[in-house]
Amino acid sequence: MIKQALISVSDKTGVLDFARALAAFGVNILSTGGTAKMLQDNGVAVTEVADYTGFPEMLDGRVKTLHPKVHGGILARRDLPEHVAKLEEHGIPQIDMVVVNLYPFQQTVAKEQCSLDEAIENIDIGGPTMLRSAAKNHRDVVVIVDPADYGPVLAEMKGAGTSPDAVDGTVGYDTRFRLAKKVFAHTAQYDSAITNYLTSLGEDKQHATRAAYPQTLNLHFEKVQDMRYGENPHQSAAFYRDLAPAAGSLANYRQLQGKELSYNNIADADAAWECVKSLGGFEQPAGCVIIKHANPCGVAIGADALDAYGRALKTDPTSAFGGIIAFNVPVDGRAAEAIAKLFVEVVIAPAFTPEALQTMAAKQNVRLLEIALGDGQNPFDVKRVGGGLLVQSPDAKNIGLGDLRVVTKQQPTQQQLQDLMFAWRVAKFVKSNAIVFCAGGMTLGVGAGQMSRIDSARIASIKAQNAGLSLVGSAVASDAFFPFRDGLDVVVDAGATCVIHPGGSMRDQEVIDAADERGVVMLYTGTRHFRH
Ligand code: 5GP
Repeated sequence: MIKQALISVSDKTGVLDFARALAAFGVNILSTGGTAKMLQDNGVAVTEVADYTGFPEMLDGRVKTLHPKVHGGILARRDLPEHVAKLEEHGIPQIDMVVVNLYPFQQTVAKEQCSLDEAIENIDIGGPTMLRSAAKNHRDVVVIVDPADYGPVLAEMKGAGTSPDAVDGTVGYDTRFRLAKKVFAHTAQYDSAITNYLTSLGEDKQHATRAAYPQTLNLHFEKVQDMRYGENPHQSAAFYRDLAPAAGSLANYRQLQGKELSYNNIADADAAWECVKSLGGFEQPAGCVIIKHANPCGVAIGADALDAYGRALKTDPTSAFGGIIAFNVPVDGRAAEAIAKLFVEVVIAPAFTPEALQTMAAKQNVRLLEIALGDGQNPFDVKRVGGGLLVQSPDAKNIGLGDLRVVTKQQPTQQQLQDLMFAWRVAKFVKSNAIVFCAGGMTLGVGAGQMSRIDSARIASIKAQNAGLSLVGSAVASDAFFPFRDGLDVVVDAGATCVIHPGGSMRDQEVIDAADERGVVMLYTGTRHFRH
């Protein structure tokens, strides 16, 4: 039976109802200053910890609950007679439940103007100590750090819980263990936030100028799933997500049907989803991306999902076999029927209509992922290298028409501008060196991942030929500048009449002269999109 609980919370969400429910179970409630006052003002009988220990809260609240009468009551093992006897000898009653959440350190330092003093005052000391005491002694003590657990704990006390050994007024071992794990994850994360903050401070600590990247970087992720294997069958793997994934990110997926996602599925699904999300703002409302081995093998916009898919598939139907397809509009029955004709691994969309689900149900192996659109960004990108991590801000830059500079005598037509903007959006998601031929809102040839730009250009044009697509009058995007005129000559020979790239090469003038000589349009973006 839970006879005594200690409640001390900064985030007071739901705590009043929870305390009332505990009181109804006859639980004696101990509480600290602000929490005690709030509960008392709302008619819940509580004993202030200061009265309980005989010691006042002191040092501006730095010492409230750090007392043997509190920690002895939490930490004593109920199964050891010596422990129980010690409590009796010192007149310390047992504390069977600890409900604590911490000073809002993360929220405090998230404010730009936060000073070091303010940050330090928001480092909770007694709270984590109680949480850790209770979590350590979870065999006998229930510990709650997350208001979302008030409901499940109460349900269990009322006999409707999940732990088999729970009886009325108690919380079972499985739940106590789950809650304890949650606490240590929480306090570890809390201390990491403090470390990240302190090690990001510059010389002028009082004014708290902060480096974007702290000296010690602590990252916390939670596991979504283990996988059968990693990139290859001899590698093991798991998928972890941010504790609070950004809106619209892949980690928010809901799988509607299909086999378990594999490592490569998730990696490719992410590439597909990020690319398709970037296809907004064109005249045609629907976007479709087909990914194979992390590279787009077909990207198109269209009147609807079916139209966009049909056009994306045309770019490279051979490579699309076994691919991953993403849409930025709901997939309807007609689009699903078309997709169902192809062997695909994963289909991703913001929604699937009932007709689409019915059609795809016949293809039970195909994994359907529903993800709400959103333009949240990972706070940073991480790449593992031998013995370390490379961390950078995500490549979130999207240029507009106003950022473009025409560098040739020939000026672009409206149609060319549209095609170039589309090609440029796609090129960002193609591994470097990237060359992308496009026209009329679809890719015609994609050259990816070559060590020389000229080879990417050749491959892109060969692929278009293989697919039976004409490159005459097409637009080309290159993810980085042309170092020599040879790459430009290859794409113009293939039929391109306009080209977009960042510019910035030592030989820019040579390449501009070549473009003028060939009578094509060339635009600079001033932005590079290497992708590795
Ligand atoms: P209250 O609003 O009840 O006055 O304060 C609740 C907060 O105080 C909780 O976030 C809890 O973690 C924190 N707390 C409880 N005991 C101590 C202590 O002894 N020292 C410090 N620094 N914080 C404490």
